[in-house]
Amino acid sequence: MNRAIVIGTGFGGLATAIRLRAKGYQVTVLEKCGDAGGRARQFVRDGFRFDAGPTVMTAPYLFDELFATVGREAQDYFQMLPVDPFYRVFFDDGDRFDYVGDQERLIEQIRARNPADVDGYLKMYDHAKRIFDVGYLQLADAPFETVRDMLKVVPDMLRLENYRTVWGLVSKYIQDPKIRQVFSFHPLLVGGNPFTITSIYMLIHALERKWGVHFVKGGTAALVQALIRLLNELEVTVHLNTPVERIAVRDGRVIGVDTPNGHFPADLVVSNGDPGYTYLHLIEPRWLKKHTPARVHRKKQSMSLFVLYFGTSGEYPQLPHHGIVLGPRYRELLDDIFHKQRLADDFSLYLHAPKRTDGDYYPAGKDGFYVLSPVPNNHSGVNWQQEGERYAEKILAHLEQRLMPGLRARLETSFFVTPDYFEQELWSLQGAAFGIEPLFQQSAYFRYHNRSEDVDGLYFVGANTHPGAGVPGVLNSAKLLDHLIAAPRQPAPVPV
Ligand SMILES: Cc1cc2nc3c(=O)[nH]c(=O)nc-3n(C[C@H](O)[C@H](O)[C@H](O)COP(=O)(O)OP(=O)(O)OC[C@H]3O[C@@H](n4cnc5c(N)ncnc54)[C@H](O)[C@@H]3O)c2cc1C
Repeated sequence: MNRAIVIGTGFGGLATAIRLRAKGYQVTVLEKCGDAGGRARQFVRDGFRFDAGPTVMTAPYLFDELFATVGREAQDYFQMLPVDPFYRVFFDDGDRFDYVGDQERLIEQIRARNPADVDGYLKMYDHAKRIFDVGYLQLADAPFETVRDMLKVVPDMLRLENYRTVWGLVSKYIQDPKIRQVFSFHPLLVGGNPFTITSIYMLIHALERKWGVHFVKGGTAALVQALIRLLNELEVTVHLNTPVERIAVRDGRVIGVDTPNGHFPADLVVSNGDPGYTYLHLIEPRWLKKHTPARVHRKKQSMSLFVLYFGTSGEYPQLPHHGIVLGPRYRELLDDIFHKQRLADDFSLYLHAPKRTDGDYYPAGKDGFYVLSPVPNNHSGVNWQQEGERYAEKILAHLEQRLMPGLRARLETSFFVTPDYFEQELWSLQGAAFGIEPLFQQSAYFRYHNRSEDVDGLYFVGANTHPGAGVPGVLNSAKLLDHLIAAPRQPAPVPV
């Protein structure tokens, strides 16, 4: 009774495989793609490598803890480099703001725009820290399985004004419209709209200030490889190109999974895939009491992303590592993406330039980037086969005009992914980039539970479960499974 299967090699899946192994399970990992990492995989094209997804690393202690569960030191496997500034925000009128960890530098920039906001910022930061103390330190790795678990936190949520939105809370303390944008864009990093998401997500600001923003030497791919190396040492087999097509259930309990490469028996299964997709397509309907198709379809999926990867001859040393390139509209653009579900003519972008922190990332004389644009998910009906090239060209022209002179003439490679990639390749419903949207009614108890209510022995981990998307979120979801899954009766010893 100690055979565990983990479906998927996102950070949530990899972390779960290590934690289950630490408990003494014999673990097998099955991944549908030909490479590991999920959203954090690496693309290689024309001699350039690109981290496909997460690059902003916060809360690195979560990796230290993870390696410690099997008696290892994370620093023996990879290196985290601090990033400064955390982000540079480029406003549409040419103004810019460096969002940094150092309070004096932050305050100097706030004072230059609106002296009255200095006091407001300090109060807002204090408020964010109080939210962080409860929302992160107490709740991020605690399971929410019952209504009672949820009711217990309501008094704190009211006291911390979590009935306000992130934008509402920032606006309570800060007047300057630009500074409001600087401190409110964070929910977008986990698929939320600052104008509708609960202010509990202000904890991200406190989290970044506490532990800093980091980049892994060699890129996020180096971190994925470090986890794979550790799994090899732990004698966990990772099967790539192995999509799980059915979760086999007998008498309401998992007994294994079916793939084109055969049946894998198991005593428990943890899926790192989209739970909505799993309930719709991988489990026979007769086992589903709670997660019926109608219920799954009622969930609101997060926005999606258009991500353009490109390599250049020559370098752009003037760019920061993380650039937020804001367009002319803020609330209205988010309204287009989240509510009207239309592809707008303008955009706000995140530009990733890894060579600024990790000088060896590309050889001398070459540079590489990705730029992402939040776009509606595939519920919008946008035809990306038609729109993709045009949209990519528009973004390149925009970057060339604002920040990267001569860009298009210097391109050595460029390609992109659209919401279709998330839907068709990663099997995320509606091509959502961050799982279900982090609305209040889809958070904590209301998110997909880590333990399936319909099938015994089936668990979920990753962006769709509590606490939600983002690397710290999914590592915490793996951590909280420790509370739900007991060690097997006959643990398999962990190799030292
Ligand atoms: C472009 C982009 C940039 C981002 N930037 C950041 C950032 O800078 N910082 C940050 O913290 N977060 C960032 N995020 C969010 C973060 O990357 C994700 O929330 C997180 O990595 C998701 O991890 P996960 O564990 O949910 O698994 P995922 O990465 O979603 O992986 C799930 C895996 O399961 C596999 N799978 C699914 N179904 C099956 C099946 N049936 N059989 C076999 N395999 C299956 C998929 O192929 C995939 O490999 C970003 C996301 C994107 C898309």
